[in-house]
Amino acid sequence: MRRSSPSSFPLAFCAIAAWVLPNPCWSQDKAARPVVLHAARVLNVETGRVQAPGEVLVQGGLIVEVGGTVRHPAEAEVIDLGEGTLLPGLIDTHVHLFLHPGAEDLQTVQESVPERTIRAVLAARDDLMAGFTAERDMGTEGAGPADTALRNAIDSGLIPGPRLRVCGNAVDILGGHEDAIGYNPEQHVLPNATQADNSADLVKVIREQFKQGADFIKIYETGKDAVVDGQLVTPYQYTQAELSAAVQEAKRVGRVIAVHATGEPCTLYAAQAGVVSIDHADVLGDETMRIMRERGIVAVPTFTISDYFSQHSASPERQKQLLELHAREFRKQLAAGVSFAMGSDVGPFPHGTQAREFVLMVKYGMKPLDALRAGTVNAARVLGWQGTAGALKPGFWADIVAVEGDPLSDITALQRVTFVMKGGVIYKR
Ligand SMILES: [Zn+2]
Repeated sequence: MRRSSPSSFPLAFCAIAAWVLPNPCWSQDKAARPVVLHAARVLNVETGRVQAPGEVLVQGGLIVEVGGTVRHPAEAEVIDLGEGTLLPGLIDTHVHLFLHPGAEDLQTVQESVPERTIRAVLAARDDLMAGFTAERDMGTEGAGPADTALRNAIDSGLIPGPRLRVCGNAVDILGGHEDAIGYNPEQHVLPNATQADNSADLVKVIREQFKQGADFIKIYETGKDAVVDGQLVTPYQYTQAELSAAVQEAKRVGRVIAVHATGEPCTLYAAQAGVVSIDHADVLGDETMRIMRERGIVAVPTFTISDYFSQHSASPERQKQLLELHAREFRKQLAAGVSFAMGSDVGPFPHGTQAREFVLMVKYGMKPLDALRAGTVNAARVLGWQGTAGALKPGFWADIVAVEGDPLSDITALQRVTFVMKGGVIYKR
């Protein structure tokens, strides 16, 4: 999460959509019958090629064929999606299913883990219905490994939601970004993150989190940030050597570390240590960007949360300043050839609305096709699902969405998802 300000905005609960899904259309056996999807266009996000009309043949949860026309097996159901565009399912690499709009510091103190888990179930459904077929949850913020249960319930078809990569609590230092600061010390309010103060602590916490079901580890590498004389100032939390110890421990078991890092020298330490992604990434120095290009480390801008807080926080001016600085730096990062993954930081703003991140990436200088790549192929790589998700290709998971209109000429089309299929199962139609 990216906090709005030390003093939180008024508590207002998420307006959870009152509708309920029709009959349990996500039952897994429905994936068996072949389906032909037909629409005005199909977009290959890797090459940028548009075929009009476009078709995709799906069977057994996988994509079989993609093209202007495909085979129509006799037993196939043919679904005409009219004027829409067929795209790979969207992927958000920075979400918080266990957070909802309102004072995030207080909700994690006042609401029980069971209550927060019920809300997370609804959030997962809302994100899927908005076209997000895979997500990386960047921290339950005090609900520990409850996200493991959520991921497993989705994977076993008990509840609708995106495919998930989860990390349990994020990891933080004593007095760091997600520690419980500003409360009566005698109350011993628990932090939203798990504490680790040195390399040995980090290794121990990482082993514990993997034991509890985490897929990857999230570390807070920067503390509170401020803009001073036009420059972003933020303290680092772990040294480069400590972050390297964490990356090595994760690597030992084939896993990765992602960091919350907004400025220098924190982003440099993270790049040198070899993290998979640098999230927020407001300021990246030249050497940091060089290492990121060399090692394929992506930046995850999370503009939507900053944009939301610039209108909904107790200190909108400070948030606007930070957003303007980030937008300026983003143009430099684009020019320097940094690669990006889409990540919205949804949770503190309503689940299911995060396609706005694509709109903001384009507003701040990215080409629409590159924004789409950030939220499909690049994001799949960050989640470790390159080769199975993020593109419409034979043999890939049948994670497919249709949007109204053409997203290459109007990126806001991604905010109007009309059809959602995940693993060959139709969730929205
Ligand atoms: Zn976050």
